[in-house]
Amino acid sequence: MRPSDLLIPTPAGLWCPPADIYIDPVRPVDRALITHGHSDHARAGHGAVLATRETLAIMALRYGEGFTGERQVAAPGETTRIGAVDFTFVPAGHVLGSAQIVVESRGLRIVVSGDYKRERDPTCAGFEPVRCDVFITEATFGLPVFRHPPAHGEVAKLLESVRVFPERTHIVGAYSLGKAQRVMALIREAGYERPIYVHGAMDKLTDFYLSEGAILGEIRKVVAAERKMLGGEIVICPPSAIQDVWARKFPDPVTSFASGWMRIRARARQKGVELPLIVSDHADWDDLQATIRETQAGEIWVTHGEAEALVHWCGTVGLKARPLHLVGYGDEGEAEAVGEGADAALV
Ligand SMILES: [Zn+2]
Ligand SMILES: [Zn+2]
Repeated sequence: MRPSDLLIPTPAGLWCPPADIYIDPVRPVDRALITHGHSDHARAGHGAVLATRETLAIMALRYGEGFTGERQVAAPGETTRIGAVDFTFVPAGHVLGSAQIVVESRGLRIVVSGDYKRERDPTCAGFEPVRCDVFITEATFGLPVFRHPPAHGEVAKLLESVRVFPERTHIVGAYSLGKAQRVMALIREAGYERPIYVHGAMDKLTDFYLSEGAILGEIRKVVAAERKMLGGEIVICPPSAIQDVWARKFPDPVTSFASGWMRIRARARQKGVELPLIVSDHADWDDLQATIRETQAGEIWVTHGEAEALVHWCGTVGLKARPLHLVGYGDEGEAEAVGEGADAALV
């Protein structure tokens, strides 16, 4: 069997013909396997969904219980056979419940990474490299300019600013699934003990993380009428809210944004971000390369992001590689921000 018999890029997403399933389909399909709950990967309206327990719960929170016809839980490390193909979900280290999907048939093993990162995250299980013949990777930050500093150092910058400006509210933009809770957990690890305030668009997901055992300390929802009393406090909100009128009602706010894109100064300036924090839930340039090597795959397929640069690098180290040009997956600056905007509109 050739890799292209096992998985084929189509406009609906990656299709596995011998099992007739799609991975992270961007259009409604009969049967979907879903890597994680971000809105560009996990969409409503499929006939059946196989995903981790956490991803299924996140989809139900975002889209309602009727998000799919049937749901089936994929326990980490356990194999589900569909047709003559074996599928195994393995932690991806991206957000709570995120998984790589190992696709195996007749001695051929392909790993679909979904989105992933290698840096430690106190709110989700760490990425586990799997040896494979073909590794399918994202490349959101697949350019040499993207090297993420340790996240705890970025959070230390935030806490230092809170110390220096005790009268000002620190408003931190962060994607409401994963990044927001990771930032809260890192703030706690740094020893900050005051309540952390959250925008109404992220309290359901934050409650879910708490119910799954995340150590986030005391979390309070922002009450609109009390914003002017929150000088000196930390408020976490969706990125779309930091430039919103909502944010201007806090006392002399310091606007911050936790994202891998904050490596690019122009992006921070353009968004009016005073305190950029480079905290990313995606692998950076070095970690993309290290991960590709660890999988020992001879062939690399790149789903989305800076595919050309990563494919080029693969060529320089003798690996066969190709971009899949999958459409519909955003980087965390684009599609997921749209998702968050939709969340914010509900509140
Ligand atoms: Zn994602
Ligand atoms: Zn993504």
